[in-house]
Amino acid sequence: MKTARLYAAYDIRIDEVAEPDEPDVGEALLRVRAVGICGSDLHMYEDGRIGDTAYDSPIVLGHEFMGEIVAVGDRALDGNHDPLQIGLRVAVDPASPCYQCEMCEQGHPNLCPHHTFYGLYPTDGALQECMIVNARNCFPIPESISDGAGTLLETLGVAIHACDLGKLKVANSVAVVGCGPVGLLILQLAKLAGAAPVYAFDKLSWRAEKARQLGAEAWNVDEADPIEVIKKETSGRGVDVAFEVAWADESVQLAAEMARMGGRLVLVGIPGDDRLTMQHSTARRKGLTIMMARRMKHTYPRAIQLATSGRVKLDDLISHHFPLDETPAAFETNASYEAGVHKIIIDV
Ligand SMILES: [Zn+2]
Ligand SMILES: [Zn+2]
Repeated sequence: MKTARLYAAYDIRIDEVAEPDEPDVGEALLRVRAVGICGSDLHMYEDGRIGDTAYDSPIVLGHEFMGEIVAVGDRALDGNHDPLQIGLRVAVDPASPCYQCEMCEQGHPNLCPHHTFYGLYPTDGALQECMIVNARNCFPIPESISDGAGTLLETLGVAIHACDLGKLKVANSVAVVGCGPVGLLILQLAKLAGAAPVYAFDKLSWRAEKARQLGAEAWNVDEADPIEVIKKETSGRGVDVAFEVAWADESVQLAAEMARMGGRLVLVGIPGDDRLTMQHSTARRKGLTIMMARRMKHTYPRAIQLATSGRVKLDDLISHHFPLDETPAAFETNASYEAGVHKIIIDV
């Protein structure tokens, strides 16, 4: 079968490899149908690492994915604890916590120190035709959710977790710095949660435009000073909750300056140089509550419900499709941020 493997920065090759073995107890064999490219994949692609995780042998990327179950092992229960059945279309939560450490027991599986993660070295991800997955990571999805939207349930899960950390209340004002797919989902969720107004900022004009289409008041940061915009819009008060979803260092400072006295700042983006830079007095004088988002908890059921009911628009965020053979071109397109790039899907 075919797989796309990352050998080094900017070096993805299509390889022919052996099919996986039969699924073991609690496992399933998945025929991968679609994989989304995430900002963290781009870090691995461009920098050869994400945070302090590097790789020293070829790795299969892809942690936003869905597919079809083609075989199941004994006692294969899905994420809802129901028997997993052959033929089901499922979205796959990439994180496998241990479920038996202190963090897992306390309801923080996203902080489990023993977890593995599909698509993060040394565990291979989904840019391959078939793979063995833990049944428990699989969540059946209805036909009304497209393959591409099925991959975006992971992104939506991240956005749900970020909004949970923001503790949004009805009529809270919100700023979203960065309108990539996660930022665009956070702003949709903020509006659903009753937050208003929702302000959004990006340095790519088509992303700011997409934020506008989704109901935010949005600006291109190259055309308007974002701090001045927020000062003017809120009469100097600032917003109740600011989300930083951009990866660029100055974006943390921007978001901190947008938050009101006593406000909340949720940091979701991952900086390329693994450094967080913010003026201390900005956060201290305001007494900001700063929350760092780490992946997600058991959010797939909520994400599936939001997608099924059509209250969150996932297909709208997909700008490109590529076949597995053209994975190198897909990454190249995403890394160069050609006009119009939102979420890129690889159809396996
Ligand atoms: Zn991701
Ligand atoms: Zn654990």
